[in-house]
Amino acid sequence: MGEITKKWIESEFASTHRVGFRLLKMVHETDSTVLPMNLLMICVNLAEIYAGLFLTSTLIDNLLDARFRQAALYALLLAVSALILGSIGEVLLKKVRTVQNRFWQIVYLWIAKKAISLDYETMEDPDAVKKLLSAERTCDMYGSVGIVVLNYGELLKALLNIVISVGLSLQLVLKHPTVGGITPLSGREDGIGQAAALLSVPGVSLFLFGTALTGVALLSVRTAHKYAEREKNFFQNRTGTEEKLTYLNDNIFFNYRAGKIIRIFEMQDMLLKNGEREFNKGFRFYLRRIRAKREETMENLANSGLFTVFSYLLVLLKTISGAITVGAFTQYVGALNQFGSACASLIEYNAAIRRNAAYMGEFLAFLDVEEKHSHGTIPLEKRDDGEYELAFENVSFRYPGSAQYVLKNVNCRLDMKRKMAVVGRNGAGKTTFIKLLCGLYEPTEGRITLNGVDIRKYKPDEYRDLFGVVFQDFRLFSFPVWENVAAGYGRNDGRLWKALRQAGAEEMVKNMPEGLETLLYKDTGEGVEISGGEAQKLAIARALYKDGALVVLDEPTAALDPLAEAEVYARFDEMTEGKTSIYISHRMSSCRFCDDIIVFDDGRIEERGSHETLLAAGGLYSQLWNAQAKYYA
Ligand code: ADP
Repeated sequence: MGEITKKWIESEFASTHRVGFRLLKMVHETDSTVLPMNLLMICVNLAEIYAGLFLTSTLIDNLLDARFRQAALYALLLAVSALILGSIGEVLLKKVRTVQNRFWQIVYLWIAKKAISLDYETMEDPDAVKKLLSAERTCDMYGSVGIVVLNYGELLKALLNIVISVGLSLQLVLKHPTVGGITPLSGREDGIGQAAALLSVPGVSLFLFGTALTGVALLSVRTAHKYAEREKNFFQNRTGTEEKLTYLNDNIFFNYRAGKIIRIFEMQDMLLKNGEREFNKGFRFYLRRIRAKREETMENLANSGLFTVFSYLLVLLKTISGAITVGAFTQYVGALNQFGSACASLIEYNAAIRRNAAYMGEFLAFLDVEEKHSHGTIPLEKRDDGEYELAFENVSFRYPGSAQYVLKNVNCRLDMKRKMAVVGRNGAGKTTFIKLLCGLYEPTEGRITLNGVDIRKYKPDEYRDLFGVVFQDFRLFSFPVWENVAAGYGRNDGRLWKALRQAGAEEMVKNMPEGLETLLYKDTGEGVEISGGEAQKLAIARALYKDGALVVLDEPTAALDPLAEAEVYARFDEMTEGKTSIYISHRMSSCRFCDDIIVFDDGRIEERGSHETLLAAGGLYSQLWNAQAKYYA
């Protein structure tokens, strides 16, 4: 028994519906009206169909028996019920479709919410990135939560329809001409007479009906399975064309920033050829999918056609043998029709759910990405005096998915309220050191402590509150200036202008068409373009506005002109007053402002000291210093 349960839990059927039900649950938690509304729509649709069948059949029998008043009444009822139920059905369908369209968008919100709440190290992990791209692509091109709701609705409708139509059809199967009565076919010796006589034997119709039903069901299941396998293969062997096309569209064809390079380096033909190649690959892939879909539909039609032919023969024989009335004939034909189409729907939508589950499984796989590290829970002691004690203890680090250590056994204490500089050659590990310090990555070995406690134990957001950072790739967004500078810390115009002034950006923002409200860049509207240096000043203002206990500046003046750079240095004391600052720069002259200089080489701390002592020591620092100084001499 346990074995069977286990097999069932692992079966494709179970996993398909686990995905499906999880999505339905997510839909219901987001909007609790969607599923009841779908259910109501299904009931109204079925009521319309069967009220129609019943009223038509009664109407015909009344007409044939010349009971015209009753016939008129049923005709009226038929019209009214069709009108009312039909209208309600239409209104509900519109509502359901609107909700479905809304879910197209909501899915992206779910993905975005997950993506930005992941810790940075997990977010950057190649496996997570792949899952993110796949989730996004799947929701763009293949699956949809709205379709899941629709498919389950159709599946339920088909099931209910089958129960009702089988109930009605069974009545037919069990109806025989009155025993001993005179029927139109009594005594008829030809094929039709014999067939009718045979069908009158109790159990024969039931047996034939059951056999036909089982046969068609088996054929249909085989078809569904065959095409589900084929679709799965398609999906698994897809070539990543969509990813490439999206990249080309978002970053190259439709992105004005790429325009300069494309024109200067005459990349138009090369890019268009690239795009065409991917497009053609994608197109061939879609053609094959469409062909498979068409073949599947044909096979399903053939299967259900067999059953329809058989059941029509049965109803016809029953009618001419006098087992049922002409009115009932229409009702049964209708019921059998419903049965046939409900079976087709059942197969079609089950296959669709299976397909969609394979796609949406990829979407859920991203939502299920687990963070690499557990979050600490200790609140950070907020100190107005900024007296924290930070230390690296035997810290080594390699990036996720990389075998190479970028930091090797780093030991250092960071003295608070001092100006520190971190220098070294390209790739020495300076930025990585900062990223670890800010808690964006965790050490592979060793630990970083704050006031003697491993920083992993603190609440991550409270720990990160300590740092205002300008990274080399600082990134501003196409939002108004004030949102770029205030970031997640609320708007306060006094503080905004102070930070802008300290970063040397006050004049620039004052001269912008709408001051603090000015939109940056043209990605989302008519924004202003700013130079790299101007952007860097805004990034510095953002770091200062945050007002953390530590200010970290990674190459903060790389894009600044010499005067702007001199301005930053001149204001440096004011900017970092009462704070600890860490300054990474290749401009060795900036180190003179700092009390404590750490020299990195190949992931290790090579030297540490003041400018004068390091220069006198004649090591790597003095080499770097002299290499630059000779051009100024
Ligand atoms: P620096 O700031 O001293 O120039 P970094 O700390 O940026 O050096 O980089 C140190 C080394 O780590 C480089 O060899 C770089 O290629 C590698 N590296 C940097 N970032 C990543 C990353 N996200 N994934 C993998 N390797 C990285």
